Amino acid sequence: MSLDDNELPQTEDEWRVRLTPEEFHVLREAGTERPWTGEYVDTKTAGVYNCRACGLELFASDTKFDSHCGWPSFDDAIPGRVKEIEDRSLGAVRTEIRCARCDSHLGHVFHGEGFTPKDTRHCVNSVSIRLEPR
Ligand SMILES: [Zn+2]
Repeated sequence: MSLDDNELPQTEDEWRVRLTPEEFHVLREAGTERPWTGEYVDTKTAGVYNCRACGLELFASDTKFDSHCGWPSFDDAIPGRVKEIEDRSLGAVRTEIRCARCDSHLGHVFHGEGFTPKDTRHCVNSVSIRLEPR
């Protein structure tokens, strides 16, 4: 279920009451779930993955691949749904990915690893997304 734009929370306190503590930590505080613990690491079900916070469709299941990194990985996002932000935490430059609509943290994107022909890995926390089976 997708929230209308006028239903989106305006403050972090409003997000906090809508999300579980784990969801809030990852989505709104850019946390990371422990590898291999997320519910979608090995999921092959056909469908679409929506933003757990606002419901926006972010990733199609046919872009999901086995990266063996411990988090769900997608080699493409639905165009315009994911925004990229330079992240200099942890002493390295990485590219954070967020939901383009509600600005919630999803994970990071990496290029040049050679996993798939698109050569891109959107490394996403399971708790940031929700699968809607087709
Ligand atoms: Zn969102």
